[in-house]
Amino acid sequence: MNQTVKRVYMDNAATTPVRPEVVEAILPVLRDGYGNPSSLYRSARDARVQMENARKTLAACIGASHEEIYFTASGSEADNWAIKAAAKMNQSKGKHIVTTVFEHHAVLHAFKALEKEGWEATYVGVDDQGIVDPEQIRRAIRPDTVLVSVMMANNEIGTLQPIAEIAAICKENKVLFHTDAVQAAGSVPIDVKELGVDMLSAAGHKMYAPKGVGMLYVRRGLRLPPLIDGGAQEKNRRAGTENVPYIVGFAKAFELAVAEMPETAKRLTEMRDELIAAVLARIPHARLNGHPTKRLPGNANLSFDFIEGESMLLLLDSMGYECSTGSACTSGSLEPSHVLLAIGVPHEQAHGSLRVSLGKFNHREETAPFVDALEQVVTRLREMSPLYKAER
Ligand SMILES: *Cc1c(COP(=O)(O)O)cnc(C)c1O
Repeated sequence: MNQTVKRVYMDNAATTPVRPEVVEAILPVLRDGYGNPSSLYRSARDARVQMENARKTLAACIGASHEEIYFTASGSEADNWAIKAAAKMNQSKGKHIVTTVFEHHAVLHAFKALEKEGWEATYVGVDDQGIVDPEQIRRAIRPDTVLVSVMMANNEIGTLQPIAEIAAICKENKVLFHTDAVQAAGSVPIDVKELGVDMLSAAGHKMYAPKGVGMLYVRRGLRLPPLIDGGAQEKNRRAGTENVPYIVGFAKAFELAVAEMPETAKRLTEMRDELIAAVLARIPHARLNGHPTKRLPGNANLSFDFIEGESMLLLLDSMGYECSTGSACTSGSLEPSHVLLAIGVPHEQAHGSLRVSLGKFNHREETAPFVDALEQVVTRLREMSPLYKAER
């Protein structure tokens, strides 16, 4: 492959590059701040102070109080903890749990695991634009329901969910409510008190901090049992020596994301809409998946008839563009995305889907050449497609 092709990263929903300010925040802690925050001498106290400052910063980013923030090693861990622990702590009240069909696998598979252990789960559908109807959540709640989990923003189609409405319904019915905000956090404003959620997951690597650090917000008064047993870290709720450098980096990243949010969101929304408009105007048999406006600023999920997402990705990659598809057969399965199927995209179209997720390091000048490249790729693949020839 041509080594000199300029690389353009457009898969920020999968993960983000670590921003320089975050690297700068992490390095001194990594180099010198090796003290174990649980120990009693000075280096330990220093590490503890850094960690507690980071906790306060992260809490402020979501309108929480510092004692409501628990560190985890990932967004997946935060989701698993919230769901499994909340279900188990309430099993005397009932064993029914509710989520939606288009959650991230960290939530869906945690629900499946609980089903294997005797819980009953209801998976609420979403409309064809990828929005959950709060009334359907209300209808799914039964006297034995103990937990509802609905994501704040979908990671594939970027759609934003009516979290405050769903939280209010859960509260009315005295059911705990968790939201997976891993994709939303850092991109859209979050205030846990205004939203009224009981638990919320977030992760560093979706907002320009490193992989391997996450957090769970747990509303004060909710005594969630641990997922990981061991030492007394995190008030006996999450054992394991804390990753202080990455926790400090996570706090730096979230703080900057919140400060820059209005400007970044505006810029990315403009780029996204320009890109979507250009694709739909220039490429026939293309459509946008998800809601046109109730979506994350950087997310464009598009489907193209008569082609395979995988082939599209490989050709785009050879031209320097990195994005993702809803037909990933990385797991060896050729099943199209459960999210696209959930919003009613037919199998063939789900296979020809492309997720372009723009981030803060993308520039407006990149979108026009990208659309040119995409048009070439789609045209080339369709020329090889017997289905497309038949259609014409
Ligand atoms: C990325 C993501 C996760 C998983 O987070 P990890 O830190 O990679 O474990 C969970 N939910 C959503 C919505 C995500 O986008």
